[in-house]
Amino acid sequence: MTVPSVTLNTGAKMPIVGLGTWNADPGKVAEAVKVAISAGYKQIDGAYVYQNEDEVGAGIHAMIDQGVVKREELFIVSKLWSTFHIPSLVRGACEKTLSDLKLDYLDLYLIHFPMGFQPGDMLFPPDEDGKVIPDGSNFLDTWEAMEELVDAGLVKAIGISNFNKEQIEAILNKPGLKYKPATNQIECHPYLTQEKLINYCHSQGISVMAYSPLGSPNRPWATPDDPSLLEDPKIKAIANKYKKTPAQVLIRFHVQRNVVVIPKSATPHRIKENFEIFDFELSQEDMTTIMSFNRNWRGFPMKWGTKHKDYPLNAEY
Ligand code: NDP
Repeated sequence: MTVPSVTLNTGAKMPIVGLGTWNADPGKVAEAVKVAISAGYKQIDGAYVYQNEDEVGAGIHAMIDQGVVKREELFIVSKLWSTFHIPSLVRGACEKTLSDLKLDYLDLYLIHFPMGFQPGDMLFPPDEDGKVIPDGSNFLDTWEAMEELVDAGLVKAIGISNFNKEQIEAILNKPGLKYKPATNQIECHPYLTQEKLINYCHSQGISVMAYSPLGSPNRPWATPDDPSLLEDPKIKAIANKYKKTPAQVLIRFHVQRNVVVIPKSATPHRIKENFEIFDFELSQEDMTTIMSFNRNWRGFPMKWGTKHKDYPLNAEY
C-alpha cells in the first residue's frame, strides 16, 4: 500500500502517518521501528533529546539490510535540541544525529523548540527556580544555520516545532530568507484542536505535524486529574460506531485535516493498530463533533520555559 502523504513546500512528500519514538523504554525502540516498517510505516519521528537515535537507526538499518525497504522510500525526521541553537553548534548537532542514525541525510530536520538553552551536557540546564537557562540566541540566526544544512546536503528539508504564529511570521519575514519552514510540529488532538494555528500554517504553505495525538498518556508529569482522550466516552462511542478503536479514531482525525500524525507505541499490536486507519472515513458530522471537544488542554505546557523570552505559549496561537 502507498501511504497517503502531504506535499511539502520543497515538493517532497511526507507520509501522513509516522511512528513517534519519544519515551520508549530503552531497548524497545529498535524493535518498534522494525515492526512499524514491516507494517508499512515509512515515516519515523525522532529527536536528539529522546536519547535513542542509535536504536532508531539500528531498527531502520535492520529493515534496509533485510530488503524490506529502501532508504529512499523512508522519511526520517529529527530535531535540533535547544542546547545547540547557537549557529556554530547547529551543524555538529545534525552530524551527531546522522552518525547515531548511521544515515547520510535526514528528510526533515526541525528546530525542536523556539527557545535556545545554555549549551552544555545538561539537556534542560536549570536555574535556581527550576526554569531553563537561556542561551541568548535568536532563532532567526539558528534558522540561517539550518538553511546551511540543506545547502550542505545533510538534510532535504527544514522546519520548526512548537513555534507560535508570531514566531513563524518572524522567520517568514526574515530579510534574506532562503528556505521557508516546510513544517511546524505541534501538540494537537481533540482537546487541543489548534484550528487557528493550523489554518495559518496551511495558508503559508507550511505543513503541520500533530504530536501527542493520543494525549501522551505516559508523559512522566501526568496526574490522575488530567483528562484522558483514550478513555473519553464520547471518543469511544464514535469508535464503536466505525468498529474501530479510540486510538484509530484519534489518528484518523488528523489525516482528514491533512495533518501529519505521529502516534508513538512500542507495543507491536498497537503499532499495527495505529496504522490501520486507511480503510474508514469519519463523517463530516463526526469530524465536527470531535472538533467540538476542544478545551485548549495541553499535555506539554513547557512549564520549564515560562521565563524564556521565546516561550511560545503566551500568545493566543
Ligand atoms: P502519544 O499521544 O502518541 O501517546 C503515546 C502513548 O500511547 C504510549 O504510552 C503508548 O503506549 C500509548 N498507545 C499507543 N498506541 C496506543 C493504542 N493503540 N491504544 C492504547 N494506547 C496506545 O504520545 P507522545 O507524546 O509520545 O507523542 C507522539 C510522538 O510525537 C512522540 O513519540 C514524539 O515522536 C513526538 N513528540 C514531539 C514533541 C515535540 O515537542 N515536537 C513533543 C512530544 C511528542 P505503548 O508505547 O506502551 O504502546
